[in-house]
Amino acid sequence: MRLVLVGPPGAGKGTQAEVIAARLAVPKISTGDIFRANVGQATPLGLRAKVYMDAGELVPDAVTNDMVADRLSQPDAAHGFLLDGYPRNLGQAEVLNENLENAGAALDAVVELVVDVENVIERLLSRGQGRTDDTEDVIRHRLEVYASETQPLVGYYRERGLLQSVDGLGAVDDVTSRILEALKV
Ligand code: AMP
Repeated sequence: MRLVLVGPPGAGKGTQAEVIAARLAVPKISTGDIFRANVGQATPLGLRAKVYMDAGELVPDAVTNDMVADRLSQPDAAHGFLLDGYPRNLGQAEVLNENLENAGAALDAVVELVVDVENVIERLLSRGQGRTDDTEDVIRHRLEVYASETQPLVGYYRERGLLQSVDGLGAVDDVTSRILEALKV
């Protein structure tokens, strides 16, 4: 299965992506994780991305799209994957489409985790000081960026018959069950 998971920061995407990918035996490809690993190792990509991440902005599409294309071309992603945090805007969605089409592939489904925004802010703030982009100002900005840049993907994928919207509130296991049910797996 080729899947995309979308939802605002703090919706529990990372946790669900981990569980669902394991369950479907596909690699979980999280752009945020790849960027953070690069920041941690101070690679040129990491140094470039950090400025945007710390400000709650999207890393420029050219950088992100190349990074994902490279990851998707690896053998473990040949027969399926779960993308977490990508695409994040319509331009990235178009590039993803083209890349998959060129490889004779296509997405099977896009799962949207639906959560209440105030709830999300509390969840992110309580995640603690582990991430340099988890301060209240940056969180609010990331939510604005989500609303303006990423939310349009919901309509985009709905029009293409790929969207499954799932209630993201509640216990992790309950949300996982809802996602698997929506995917009919
Ligand atoms: P995340 O862990 O998905 O919340 O991502 C953390 C940060 O990494 C984001 O706030 C962005 O700065 C950057 N990032 C992750 N995925 C993308 C993407 N698809 N496009 C641009 N920037 C991204």
